[in-house]
Amino acid sequence: MNNTAFNNRVKNLNNKKVKAGDFVLYWMQSSHRVENNWALTYAANQANKANLPLVVFFGLSQDFPDANYRHYWFMLEGLKEVAAELKKNKTKFVVKVGSPAKILVELSKDAALVVVDKAYLKTNLGWYKYAAENCEAGLIQVEDNVVVPVEEASSKEEYSAATLRPKILSKLNYFLELPTAVALNRSSLNLEIDTINIDELEDILSTIKVDKTVDKSPFFRGGTSQANKNLEDFYQNDFVEYEKTGNNPENGLNSNLSPYLHFGQISPIYVALKMLRTNQLEKHRFLEQLIIRRELAINFVYYNNKYDSFSGLPNWAQKNLTEHLDDKREFVYSLNEFEEGSTHDKYWNAAQKEMVKTGKMNGYMRMYWGKKIIEWTKTPMEAFEWALYLNNKYELDGRDPNGYTGVAWCFGKHDRPWSKRSIFGNVRYMNDKGLERKFEMKKYLDRVKLLV
Ligand SMILES: Cc1cc2nc3c(=O)[nH]c(=O)nc-3n(C[C@H](O)[C@H](O)[C@H](O)COP(=O)(O)OP(=O)(O)OC[C@H]3O[C@@H](n4cnc5c(N)ncnc54)[C@H](O)[C@@H]3O)c2cc1C
Repeated sequence: MNNTAFNNRVKNLNNKKVKAGDFVLYWMQSSHRVENNWALTYAANQANKANLPLVVFFGLSQDFPDANYRHYWFMLEGLKEVAAELKKNKTKFVVKVGSPAKILVELSKDAALVVVDKAYLKTNLGWYKYAAENCEAGLIQVEDNVVVPVEEASSKEEYSAATLRPKILSKLNYFLELPTAVALNRSSLNLEIDTINIDELEDILSTIKVDKTVDKSPFFRGGTSQANKNLEDFYQNDFVEYEKTGNNPENGLNSNLSPYLHFGQISPIYVALKMLRTNQLEKHRFLEQLIIRRELAINFVYYNNKYDSFSGLPNWAQKNLTEHLDDKREFVYSLNEFEEGSTHDKYWNAAQKEMVKTGKMNGYMRMYWGKKIIEWTKTPMEAFEWALYLNNKYELDGRDPNGYTGVAWCFGKHDRPWSKRSIFGNVRYMNDKGLERKFEMKKYLDRVKLLV
């Protein structure tokens, strides 16, 4: 292990040390995987060092903002695999329903040390704050869902990919390293700690309070094994073509890894190492997305706590869109019309239906989709709110730094001013003629027709 690089991933959240306890506790929050998990590996090493067993805890919150049946199902499929993998390494997986931070604090009374992975959004940060203030044991955070830890990459909100890229590139080799799995000396399987049975997903979801209006995805199965399959399939079949053409609506040759990355079911470091051909990321379409764009999104939500609101956009973009508030809109749709995919635009409707049905819209179409919501809504403020609402409700990868940033990008974030036009001012505009010029859009429509 490169100790210095690893140390840059670690932070003591409450300045407490190891105390007497029955086990070391890993609070699995964002990294729902056993393999290639720096936080779990660190916790396992600490357990062996203290000659204690390791317990892994997951708190199943019933009121996670914007999460519904689709998200819970996918997440629980992944956690079921986690339970089976942990068992092979003599580790008890404790899953409890309720406020994760409060349950963690209770469990920490018997723990010598608590280790947690890192999260970036408000709800999770609120849990961490509560846990840091109330946890009786030391609380150590290990950041392992990025290649370059967010504060190591930059100490401020970056203007664009162009400003973050050189900072990330200068540290890439240093941080591109995976942990070595640790065999545990002591078993925790016989410890008496109550847990729900993670094998019965339908039972769990019928007993907890969860919004059931959005059904599970018929196309995406959660879990590390499926994430690995998607990666292998992409690597073997689509990667070469993707490097030439990108994530476009015509061919749909993308990796389909975003839902797995969102739930931490696969490590971005592992994906990057598998795909790395050259360190010139600007010439590497896939790694540019996976590392630079994804970590730019994390930089945004980490340093700008208005990431989920119109007022978090750059001043020039807010000013432009507000100045054009009263411009005539040829089409104005209600949220319901958007949600049903019943606008006048066949491409937009197809993208919306792809998302509602499968849980994942094509990447290029997401840009067009967001731009058109701005054009066809009464105000840009309402457009921002509705785009986030739809994105977070239906996308399996929604409620993610990438989602907040992707929506904000449609409104000018991380972009530059373009030539002036109505409704948008200097914010970049997109139209259907552009789609038709670039792609064989019939192929996209045909593909979506088969899915929905
Ligand atoms: C309006 C809008 C909303 C979006 N909402 C989300 C969202 O909720 N969740 C989400 O993960 N992504 C979101 N994106 C970014 C991007 O569209 C998706 O990450 C991508 O389509 C996921 O598919 P894939 O994994 O097959 O991508 P691939 O093209 O195979 O890319 C591999 C990985 O790179 C990262 N990546 C790709 N494109 C981007 C990007 N533009 N910005 C940041 N990271 C990127 C993702 O982690 C992705 O899994 C949004 C973009 C826009 C414009």
